Amino acid sequence: MNARIATYTDFIPTSDILNQSWQHQLANLVTDIDELCNLLSLNKDELLQTYQLPPKFPLQVPHAFVAKMTKGDLSDPLLLQILPTKSEQIQTLGYITDPLDEHNHNPIKGLLHKYQSRVLITLTGACAVHCRYCFRQHFDYNANLPKSDEQAQILDYINKNPDINEVLLSGGDPLNVSNRRLLDWLSKLADCANITTIRLHTRLPIVLPARIDDELLNSFKNLTKNIVMVIHTNHPSEIDDDVKIACTKLKSAGVTLLNQTVLLKNINDNAETLANLSHKLFGIGVLPYYLHILDKVQGASHFDIDESQAIELYWQLLEKLSGYLVPKLVQELPNRPYKTPIDIYKSSAFE
Ligand SMILES: *Cc1c(COP(=O)(O)O)cnc(C)c1O
Repeated sequence: MNARIATYTDFIPTSDILNQSWQHQLANLVTDIDELCNLLSLNKDELLQTYQLPPKFPLQVPHAFVAKMTKGDLSDPLLLQILPTKSEQIQTLGYITDPLDEHNHNPIKGLLHKYQSRVLITLTGACAVHCRYCFRQHFDYNANLPKSDEQAQILDYINKNPDINEVLLSGGDPLNVSNRRLLDWLSKLADCANITTIRLHTRLPIVLPARIDDELLNSFKNLTKNIVMVIHTNHPSEIDDDVKIACTKLKSAGVTLLNQTVLLKNINDNAETLANLSHKLFGIGVLPYYLHILDKVQGASHFDIDESQAIELYWQLLEKLSGYLVPKLVQELPNRPYKTPIDIYKSSAFE
């Protein structure tokens, strides 16, 4: 790569951006490797030994997330989640573009119906942060975004399926859209008689906590359905005061807060870090929900850890933590009607 060395004056300082509205922050994501390098005072030569410009799924991360990284540290666990690397270009057998076989459970554009009692809507393909292990990084969102026609079809599908009692809003990230669009979906879904719970799967409260604004909070307060928010946090350093404020507001608005974590090599693959994460989450009112073994998506094999190591970590967590702070260890396998619990007795880790 023939990268230009940028100067600080090329970019807006983080401190200025973090005082702006979430819309402004979303419009000013860090997408330039030189800017990232400068913000973090990284050694450019060292960076270029691992960094590689990706052909698709470019570098993208909010300033609010970069601000939580340690300056000068190329192995920062937050940086490793978003830095495009040469390892991504390695094709590994068994790591594919649609690891969850989602295309086969797609009755209407924008709707996934894999599990009996709940459906998932991919509201948008956009997400503020491009996590390098994202299992939907190859998903064809353009062919799959629900417009107003599809919205009517989706609502009709839900109303005609009494088995469905919960709707998940996902993406992309469902909080990446405007309040106007999101609130429209929320109110229409709340009108479905069989729906008891609306769930949002989002990483925005972690990577861009200003997104939790008053208009959104008020709509949550006024909805007559259960609102669940599953946030996505992998490392205790992701939780700072701004995240805490966002979660406290969500709790006051009556939202049930859960977290899911992906097990990632060199990022959170030790019991100390995971236990610490559970404690920190509970401290901001969030309960651990799932601990996922990585989905086998093309370009992410360097993040994967052995199942036997995952099982060993899980036993260590059982030992360290109160029962309610231990997330369920699961893996999403194609064509199973649920997230599959990992058999923790099958490893030699259990004696
Ligand atoms: C993960 C997922 C759900 C939700 O599963 P839970 O076990 O209820 O959290 C629903 N639909 C799809 C397509 C999913 O991938």
